[in-house]
Amino acid sequence: MPERDAAGAIPDCPIEAENLRRRQGVRLTSLRRSILEILVAADFPVKAYDIIEYMRDKGKRVTPASIYRTLDFLLQNGLVHRVNSLNAYIPCTGKHSNHILLMFICSECQKTTEIDDQTLYDSMQSRLEELGMSLQGGCIEIQGTCKECMQ
Ligand SMILES: [Zn+2]
Ligand SMILES: [Zn+2]
Repeated sequence: MPERDAAGAIPDCPIEAENLRRRQGVRLTSLRRSILEILVAADFPVKAYDIIEYMRDKGKRVTPASIYRTLDFLLQNGLVHRVNSLNAYIPCTGKHSNHILLMFICSECQKTTEIDDQTLYDSMQSRLEELGMSLQGGCIEIQGTCKECMQ
């Protein structure tokens, strides 16, 4: 796993987070937008602690409570996802027509990719149904090795 210090992990973000908005009617306050921008720029899942550190380095006065509250808001509105196995966050890039989240996490570099594949969902769902289970409301985190790390 590469060394990533808190400030170095998150580059400055030129991307307008507003462009990434997938959900209608979500009001982005400056804090919400800042956090989204950090997540978009990072290219890797970012821990809440690293967000706090980064914003403080930039001279912003933030409290852990405000960051967690804002992350909760972004989660609830589908703008970000929590990667449970890393205890970190990524911006949403998928469509989620089926409300199931499938993420691939590289065990080497931790790069996390949302997988939007209906065929994959359907085959998993139908097999689970045979077993009397359902993917509904769930989140699947697959650990493996990404293309870059396989070289
Ligand atoms: Zn998503
Ligand atoms: Zn990798």
